[in-house]
Amino acid sequence: MPNVPNSLAARGAPDLGEMDLAEMEAALQQRSHPAFHARQIYSWIYAKGVTDFDQMTDLSRALRADLAQHLRIGSPKVVQRETSTDGTTKFLLELEDGRRIESVFIPDTPAQTFCVSTQVGCAMKCGFCLTGKMGLIRNLSAGEIAGQVRVLASELGLRTAKFNIVLMGMGEPLHNYDNTMKALRMLNDERGLAVSPRRVTLSTVGVLPALERLATEPLMPNLAISLHATTEDQRDALVPVNRKYGLQDILEAARKFPLKRRNRITFEYVLLRGVNDTPEDARRLVRLLGNIRCKVNLIPLNEAAGISFERPPDARIDKFAEILANAGLRVSVRKSRGRDIRAACGQLIVEGAQKSPAQRAAALL
Ligand code: SAH
Repeated sequence: MPNVPNSLAARGAPDLGEMDLAEMEAALQQRSHPAFHARQIYSWIYAKGVTDFDQMTDLSRALRADLAQHLRIGSPKVVQRETSTDGTTKFLLELEDGRRIESVFIPDTPAQTFCVSTQVGCAMKCGFCLTGKMGLIRNLSAGEIAGQVRVLASELGLRTAKFNIVLMGMGEPLHNYDNTMKALRMLNDERGLAVSPRRVTLSTVGVLPALERLATEPLMPNLAISLHATTEDQRDALVPVNRKYGLQDILEAARKFPLKRRNRITFEYVLLRGVNDTPEDARRLVRLLGNIRCKVNLIPLNEAAGISFERPPDARIDKFAEILANAGLRVSVRKSRGRDIRAACGQLIVEGAQKSPAQRAAALL
């Protein structure tokens, strides 16, 4: 069933879950209510996790009744929750149009981390990523991106805890720039979850114009670039968008990227057996990254049916890491979390649930 065949949604009532504070103020004023109530409502939704107007007890009854009649607060709905033996928890969330996405909670890495999606599917089609196999179905709205954090924080009882957000779920955040940035502003608001941009990491294949725009953002997350290759040809084959925005251009943008003190760009590098895992690859990587303030996160491939690459043997991974470390690069090897529930990197895919309600209704006829 789609999430809200609710008459308010059907009638197109404005959704406060899609609004930042200024927009919420305007929505209230439009209904002739004082703007300051927006701050109370914002804090109910984000700080207290309350989306039922009736429970917003510091608002007058009359106001609550009016809001409930004319406005709504949409939230992604949890349809499934699976916990891995390592504590990683994968949430299957349903959106108002019936589309489904996945968000993942990764405990203690060392902080608590929410891995959030920015699109339904993905257009980038990286050769080793299952989400890419879905193709892009649609962008998530700002409310749907921020809503994942809101819902996970509530479900896990972590609303008042400090947590990190990684935009490493389904989708390419820089291919959905405006909604992603708006979501970060909504999450940053001090009346709500007050998530500092220092706790957010945006991971991207490097959509160049958007990357250059990101460099000018007042509210700037940490940056992770999915590099995965050391030559243009190799990257063209693994990360098709490289044919448009090449490796050298991405590295040039990274070199110019404004970094706060002590901050570094992360380069992610998926290790694929016999493809990009040789000592020569490692040495080329050292040369490419030589003059960039960065760290390298090696991600041994998470294998999956439908992916034609293999994970290198451990000795190969260690050797690769050692070459980088000996050359003075900071390097870490990503521990795979939640593999038993298919919640690890590149394993997020929603199958058989991607029909629109209309298509599903048609299928039932
Ligand atoms: N679109 C963004 C965020 C998505 S995924 C990006 O590409 O950066 C986060 C990381 O997981 C990316 O570096 C991605 O390349 C990597 N990844 C994808 N499939 C993987 C797989 N099967 N095994 C390991 N890592 C994978």
